[in-house]
Amino acid sequence: MAESVALAVSGARGRMGRIVTELAAEDPAFRVVGGIDRDAEGDVSAALPLLVTPSEAGDLLKAADVLIDFSAPEFLESILTRHAEMEAGCALVVGTTGLGPPEERLIEAASEKVGVLTAANFSVGVNLLIALTQRSAAALGAGYDIEIVEVHHRRKEDAPSGTALALGRAAAAGRKLDLEAVRKDGRSGRPGARPADEIGFHALRGGDVAGDHCVHFIGELERIELTHRASDRALFGAGALRAAAWIAGRVPGRYSMRDVLGL
Ligand code: NAD
Repeated sequence: MAESVALAVSGARGRMGRIVTELAAEDPAFRVVGGIDRDAEGDVSAALPLLVTPSEAGDLLKAADVLIDFSAPEFLESILTRHAEMEAGCALVVGTTGLGPPEERLIEAASEKVGVLTAANFSVGVNLLIALTQRSAAALGAGYDIEIVEVHHRRKEDAPSGTALALGRAAAAGRKLDLEAVRKDGRSGRPGARPADEIGFHALRGGDVAGDHCVHFIGELERIELTHRASDRALFGAGALRAAAWIAGRVPGRYSMRDVLGL
């Protein structure tokens, strides 16, 4: 059997961090070497052998083949800064959403030295939906207005979701548009008539919804709705582990779930 992948988890005390830790602990393809979070104390998965803060993470980053991050943008920034300082050879799988230019710059710099895979959503179904959205937008053309509706649990901090934005980018690419030029986040007051090229985003928040996304293509005579509903967050953990197994030992570069899934 091939040697197992040494895995570190950042945001290890969070909901996704725990799921990843527990799924990896049950999978012989992985060896969990430790976790990183803002406090090195408190409740963690029993499967986590070690918990450290970013400033103590040097040895862990050296021991790991892959780091999976599900934390928060400012936390990811501190991990990436430490990763660069350590010249660590550890590949990165990033699930944190709501990233801004500082994190994007650090991710690009890291991808010159190690494999880095970012995904707003690790679900196979969502990545298929992204591909279908691009094809549908191209086939349907400008006569079909595009509106994206997403629903998430009440604790989610960013909106629209990273997945909704990925769907928006795919729709814009299908229509040969620049998303930032046509993006419309919600409507209120008197926004006026809808421009033909607009791509609308609407975020619903409540309860414990793991994540629903629907891309509406609204024509004069018909409507098409492409929908994905996540039933359980374990879906994202399983996808992140699939990405981690795929990226271990790859040449440096920037990768996506499209590469993992061959889409
Ligand atoms: P969570 O709040 O349960 O966990 C976040 C962890 O990061 C916590 O342990 C927290 O202590 C740590 N953290 C460190 N610094 C923080 C800070 N400044 N603010 C907030 N938390 C901080 O969150 P979660 O549900 O596990 O999600 C984590 C991230 O993963 C979010 O960005 C979420 O949108 C994203 N996510 C991505 C996918 C995907 O498929 N790509 C799926 C689910 C969640």
